[in-house]
Amino acid sequence: MNTAATERPPAAYNRGYSTDVDKIREQDYPLLNDTTYLDHAGTTPYAKSMIETFSKDMTSNLFGNPHSMSLSSQLSTTRTDDVRLRVLRFFNADPDEFDLVFVANATAAIKLVADCLRDSDHRGFWYGYHIDSHTSVVGVRELAELNFQCFQSDVEVDNWIPELASNQTKAPRLFAFPAQSNLNGRRLPLRWCEQIRSAANGGNVFTLLDAASLVSTSPLDLSSSAPDFTALSFYKIFGFPNLGALIVRKSAGRVFERRRYFGGGTVDMVLAAGAQWHAKKESSIHERLEDGTLPFHSIIALDSAISTHERLFGSMANISSHTAFLAKQLHDRLSVLKHWNETSVCQIYKGNSTYGCPVTQGPIIAFNIRTSKGEWVPKTEVEKLATVQNIQIRTGSVCNPGGTACSLGWTGAELRRHYSTGLRCGDDHDVLGGRPTGILRASLGAMTNMKDIDSFVDFIEEFYVEKVPPIVALNPLVEDGDPVDRHFYIESLSVFPIKSCGAFKIPEGKRWEVKREGLAWDREWCLIHQGTGAALSQKRYPRMSLIRPSVDLDRGILRITCGYLSDQVSLEISLGWEDTSLISTSLCQNSSNKKATMVCGDQISLHAYASPVVSAFFSDFLGVPCTLARFPSQSATRFSRPPRLSGTWKNKFRKFIMPGSFPPDLPPPAREQGKRLTLSNEMPILVVSRSSVNRLNETIKANSKQGIGAGKAVAADVFRGNIVVAERLARLGDAEQPYAEDHWGGLRIGPDQLRIDVLDGCQRCQMVCIDQFTGLRRSEPFSTLAKTRNIGGKVTFGRYAALSPDEFEGLDLEATERRTVMVGDVVTPTYVDN
Ligand SMILES: *Cc1c(COP(=O)(O)O)cnc(C)c1O
Repeated sequence: MNTAATERPPAAYNRGYSTDVDKIREQDYPLLNDTTYLDHAGTTPYAKSMIETFSKDMTSNLFGNPHSMSLSSQLSTTRTDDVRLRVLRFFNADPDEFDLVFVANATAAIKLVADCLRDSDHRGFWYGYHIDSHTSVVGVRELAELNFQCFQSDVEVDNWIPELASNQTKAPRLFAFPAQSNLNGRRLPLRWCEQIRSAANGGNVFTLLDAASLVSTSPLDLSSSAPDFTALSFYKIFGFPNLGALIVRKSAGRVFERRRYFGGGTVDMVLAAGAQWHAKKESSIHERLEDGTLPFHSIIALDSAISTHERLFGSMANISSHTAFLAKQLHDRLSVLKHWNETSVCQIYKGNSTYGCPVTQGPIIAFNIRTSKGEWVPKTEVEKLATVQNIQIRTGSVCNPGGTACSLGWTGAELRRHYSTGLRCGDDHDVLGGRPTGILRASLGAMTNMKDIDSFVDFIEEFYVEKVPPIVALNPLVEDGDPVDRHFYIESLSVFPIKSCGAFKIPEGKRWEVKREGLAWDREWCLIHQGTGAALSQKRYPRMSLIRPSVDLDRGILRITCGYLSDQVSLEISLGWEDTSLISTSLCQNSSNKKATMVCGDQISLHAYASPVVSAFFSDFLGVPCTLARFPSQSATRFSRPPRLSGTWKNKFRKFIMPGSFPPDLPPPAREQGKRLTLSNEMPILVVSRSSVNRLNETIKANSKQGIGAGKAVAADVFRGNIVVAERLARLGDAEQPYAEDHWGGLRIGPDQLRIDVLDGCQRCQMVCIDQFTGLRRSEPFSTLAKTRNIGGKVTFGRYAALSPDEFEGLDLEATERRTVMVGDVVTPTYVDN
């Protein structure tokens, strides 16, 4: 790493900056200290001193609603006018030739142009857009009543422009393109604006430049390129404020004359009743288009933003060469990464542009990763690991459908077919038919430094470059097949009464019931967000691990304790359904983008606790507005016969069955062999092997780098297994069999030889990095798991299991004895070849 640092050619790296970029980072971007932030195309962070300057401005001035006579109002008006001019100058736009309209963001600017163009001519308008466009630009086509065309390449645009001269039309035409692709950073030719205008020769052809991505790391000189409309968002340049602009060439202002809507300050006089008459403001384009009260505080913030930016970085040109230099470093270093067999690790998606050349290429890199066998590494797996390593990138189609499809070679027909089978933006269908559905994107910003590039390349090298051929795992049992010598037993039993919260360890010596849907009382409740209705997960709220429920069967209560020993609070609720404060609700699982829920309908019915005491208990502890909810018992709704016993809580509950749940008299669905099971309750029991946890910990220690707690062993609890199985070794010195569970087909447990089927491996995410006793996140064990337990692109640890259907064959569920397990029970696995 240090070698790379000394090779820095100072010519491009932070040239013109107020000081060394590392110093700027230290002083003004302390939030970036412990993270590798490479999502500047999403938003760049704001400088600390900018917020301080803005805060001082706000606390030392009284700003009133603009456009009246009071002093405070006058102050806001003048400041707004000043900032408007300042922004125009920032883009070298002559105020005689251009006007600036403040809008919410780039999308609002684009939509404003489209809406006005539609109103401007009764025939509507024609629309052309470049394939590399952001969704906000593509969407305009829905308003284009006179047809639209997507230009699939630069050449198509170049061929179309000369045709404009001979092909004049009365109705307006609009051509839109991004100044820079937000997908791969390619910079498109700005000369098109001028070329189109001269070819159309006064005809009704307008150009819309989506500059949102470009302006984040490049100067934009509107005096030379002069698009009719330019859309951008300021947060992408300065990090703050959340505000956008539409910059209009005044000579194209006629487009706005027939805009139908008016509101707030955009009119001179309105008759509210009687005749439908109003007089629009004639004075300027922005006065006619800025409806309602301007976001004047945000506009004032822009003043501090521009000043601070200039003070730190000097100019956009400096930022452009700094980021171009770093992007070239990143690109060059990623493209030479090779596996042991000389195959490339990164497939980089770019146009015919050159990294390091700011005219054609911005500092964004889109790519995917392959294994030495040429298989694509799923993007969500990379994202999970990056998250654990505190690296922030973006994945998916990054709002650039055309660019993504082109890069990955998808046709529209293919994408529609995949959509109809469930592919959605942001979901985890990473690879379909052997091809990736999205990309990984690393994007740089003004304050990106060499360390960020080093960390990112190191990350790819450490986790994705296969230096030696993968070792084919030996089947552990084939060697000495003497399973009788090997005794597995239940080391511990846990249930998680509240989904995603702490474990309740079943006391030793107590037999615990196993049902079809898992261990009794496991995931019976969950916490739901009171606004969205979505179930909370520990992945997002690690403090949930500190919410510890315990089941007291004797008293018929669930006792929930929160927090550390010193300041614990607790709550007791009944295990029965007689609690009258229950209200019904439904859980929208779509918010988690799981395909599973589409299979069984969008909603799972739930019963939320209406008591304010209950919701306050959890909301106060987590700092999230939430409440407790209870799942309907799956055995009642789904698997059991119609009721014969009355008066049990299950029966009382039956009347609550809601849409999306299964009718009560449906026979248990037969489990199809090989079919991926979809509902969580079909993966009822999670089995974790102590020997595997031990092996994993040895690996973590052996591979540990320097750093606080880096090589510390992890507790088996992080895997949140229901049954932890350990080995009782026959002779001293016998070796354990880590990962023997990979080959298990079934288990027999305890004195009654309870039959358990072993199902899929449990796919892991960064949640295993949350210490279940402190609620703190670390990078292990996920980092080591990703290296050592990557099975078919998925990180797996532990096996799901369920009571075997044989247990129920020909039996009446309610009539038979309870099936139970206990800590210490002997476990006899059966093995399958896989
Ligand atoms: C970010 C971006 C947009 C959308 O910006 P919003 O602030 O979300 O409106 C549009 N186009 C490009 C090229 C972008 O990068």
